[in-house]
Amino acid sequence: MTKKRIAVKDIAKPSAKLTELRKEDFKPLPAPFDTPESTPDFAPLGDKAREQYEASLDDTLAVSIPKPKNKQEEDELVAKFLSGLQKLFTKENNWTFLQPLLLSMDHCATCHTCSDACHIYEASGRNPVYRPGYRSEVFRRLYKKYVKSKGGLLQAWRDGEIELNWTTVARLAELAYRCNLCRRCAQTCPIGVDNGLIGHEIRKLLSQEMGIAPKELHESGSVLQLKVGSSTGMNDTVVKDNIEFIDEEVSEKTGLEIHTPWDKEGADILLVHNAGEILSWPMNPGAFAVIFESAGVSWTMSSDLAGYDSVNYGVWYDDAQFARVAVKHAEIAKKLKVKKIVLGECGHAHKALTVIADRVLTGELNVPRESSMVTLENLIMSGRIKVDPDRNDFPVTLHDPCNLVRLMGVVEPQRRILRRIAPRFREMEPHGVHNYCCGGGSGFAIMSGHNFGDWRAQVAGRKKVEQILNAFQDELDPSIKKYVCAPCSNCKGQLRDLFNYYDLWEKHSILYDGLVELIVNCMTNVEPGFIEWEMH
Ligand code: SF4
Ligand code: SF4
Repeated sequence: MTKKRIAVKDIAKPSAKLTELRKEDFKPLPAPFDTPESTPDFAPLGDKAREQYEASLDDTLAVSIPKPKNKQEEDELVAKFLSGLQKLFTKENNWTFLQPLLLSMDHCATCHTCSDACHIYEASGRNPVYRPGYRSEVFRRLYKKYVKSKGGLLQAWRDGEIELNWTTVARLAELAYRCNLCRRCAQTCPIGVDNGLIGHEIRKLLSQEMGIAPKELHESGSVLQLKVGSSTGMNDTVVKDNIEFIDEEVSEKTGLEIHTPWDKEGADILLVHNAGEILSWPMNPGAFAVIFESAGVSWTMSSDLAGYDSVNYGVWYDDAQFARVAVKHAEIAKKLKVKKIVLGECGHAHKALTVIADRVLTGELNVPRESSMVTLENLIMSGRIKVDPDRNDFPVTLHDPCNLVRLMGVVEPQRRILRRIAPRFREMEPHGVHNYCCGGGSGFAIMSGHNFGDWRAQVAGRKKVEQILNAFQDELDPSIKKYVCAPCSNCKGQLRDLFNYYDLWEKHSILYDGLVELIVNCMTNVEPGFIEWEMH
């Protein structure tokens, strides 16, 4: 356990690192991972990275801010942060979240209920810097000193001291990326403080006002998506080629003739996948096509720029980038004159386009949007898809993607489907709106620079590994194949990394994949054996 007490004001005191991460401090995992030797070592950051980037928070890097060249550059960055801080609390500059942010800034009763709810804090061995309230209190003190009042002794005495210097800004920036924005803490706070939102708003200030954001989310994320059509880098020709190949594959596997329709005007449904599925889990879009074609759904995909990629990374770090992508999605649906947009298995895309986008998609652009969990449930329960649950006679558990479940309330449709198609379905504990994040939330699933992959597997993802092992506790024997159903691309990216890191497939025959693959695996009109029991 990290014994050192770290006060909020310590964030401003220059030192090699504010806190230390040691594997022996992390919360022990259940058997068979209950000895230090049973899990990989936590790699320290390389000396070169330490010299080049601001790594004095915890010797890990997610944002990788280059060190300023001199004091003048540091001062300029601090001034930018301060002006961004002031703008963040104005109506004109924060059209998305000003009101809930103000409510969360007002007060914290320091009861630490939120700390007990946070998987990152718990997994780290209760490292004080990872308390949900630590980051928030730094920001709250800055707000009270520089935005709400004019500073002075009385203010410092009343609200707590804090110094704003480059060390504070650089550490706070990294600290905003030690939170999955899962908002489990917000759910438990007795006075309604939303520490997840505060983390989000810090990220936003950094990106919109200082141009600081992880390259995976910005340059290779939303910027690339708006430039070529997808954050995967696929343009319309490549995506169509890939889907054609997937159609051929699933046709061969299922014995059906599958052709994905493109740009069909007036279709009932515009289906938008996280394009990562097409490259990494091609059987997922393939399974959607099998289900929709078998049920005779009127549907289409779009080959328009961003029309075939539902990701909207802006939702994690930048309102302007978020709005650009959301408007693009709605315009495409409008142009195709579809009745509604259905989002494939991607949690953040769900929340971005169906909840947060309400702030920008007004008037004509307010196209109906639906979760595929609901669409699929209707197809199965109405009998348009015929299933034989005996084909899924193996242990199945369900991971609840935070964005879809806690943050949107889509809890039951996927469960009703699983109860219908998976006779050996069992819940993780806790589950539903009380679920734990997989540790890949808020963009982490695509971030692995330096030693961040280790941090993600050992700290952020630790609780999920514990939950999965517990769900299959009595069936860990490798002769029994087990399935973690994760209806979200980003969660699957994180699960893939976790499963490889802890060898869950090799040693315990635990596999992960989506919901549609399980559905097709038991559809009576297709050849048996759709699920590929191999790590992918
Ligand atoms: S939002 Fe989630 S990860 Fe972030 S502090 Fe709260 S519980 Fe922890
Ligand atoms: S639960 Fe709420 S009031 Fe209590 S420490 Fe956390 S943010 Fe503050």
